[in-house]
Amino acid sequence: MALLIDGKKISTEIKEELKVKVAELKAKGTEVTLAVIQVGHDPASTVYVGNKKKACEFIGINSLSYELEDSITEEELLQLIQQLNEREDVNGILVQLPLPKHINEDKVIMTIDPKKDVDGFHPQSVGKLSIGQKGFVSCTPAGVIQLLKRSGISIEGKECVVLGRSNIVGKPMALLLLRENGTVTICHSKTKDLKEVTKRADILVVAIGKPRFIGKEYIKEGAVVIDVGIHRDENNKLCGDVDFDDVVDHVSAITPVPGGVGPMTIAMLMNNCVESTEA
Ligand code: NAP
Repeated sequence: MALLIDGKKISTEIKEELKVKVAELKAKGTEVTLAVIQVGHDPASTVYVGNKKKACEFIGINSLSYELEDSITEEELLQLIQQLNEREDVNGILVQLPLPKHINEDKVIMTIDPKKDVDGFHPQSVGKLSIGQKGFVSCTPAGVIQLLKRSGISIEGKECVVLGRSNIVGKPMALLLLRENGTVTICHSKTKDLKEVTKRADILVVAIGKPRFIGKEYIKEGAVVIDVGIHRDENNKLCGDVDFDDVVDHVSAITPVPGGVGPMTIAMLMNNCVESTEA
């Protein structure tokens, strides 16, 4: 029977540890404050933002909430970010993506002070990760590393295959696995003979955004599988990019969906907020 990597339990552990750290910081007179900006009323974004605020409350992080109408101009949003950059009482700035089409996301990300870039999306944060300097790391891939480490799965020397090369998951995931001394291969939609490549993996991280796409024919027996994908199927049931039922008896460890990678993203965002007091 495969080990089920319990993201709920591990994310709770991390949040409990952060709660203690935040209390210690408070005792020394340092508050942690995250500014959360949401533009428009996308229901999924509202849920994500709500969960982030709840996590802040649990840990003792102050959250400042900016709920802006769709009609806001790009310039107005950039001005707000500039004001938050200048405020000494704000440690982290998070702009919930996606943004309405008339606002350039890259410009928004570039405007956030890298010292407050708790999402880890600023090119300076990405650059620091790629050259091995300390900086903010994109929360979902950072969460995957914690899942592996805290489940006693070593990365060093392992064949690691990352399926997907997005800026927020695949690419930083590959860099993090490399930082942990894995031997890393990245696959994408132009990869030839995908199965041949994924079957080499001791650790396979799947982030392709296609429900139940990966069955056991893509996986070496006994591999560790991390499923980043999250979808609702035709029965409104949550599922990942991996066909869990098909592969579970074939692998040595796997993250379920829900309850695997998902809860880790917010835990790592909270971790970045606490680290931002040192930035
Ligand atoms: P994305 O930006 O759509 O990127 C998907 C990647 O998969 C691309 O690099 C694409 O290749 C590759 N790909 C697509 N179809 C493929 C195929 N048939 N064969 C090989 N490669 C293929 O997605 P993302 O933002 O990284 O997200 C991936 C999944 O993770 C989604 O289900 C998303 O909902 C989920 N997600 C979850 C969390 C969480 O907190 N759990 C956070 C973020 C994302 P090309 O580059 O060649 O197009």
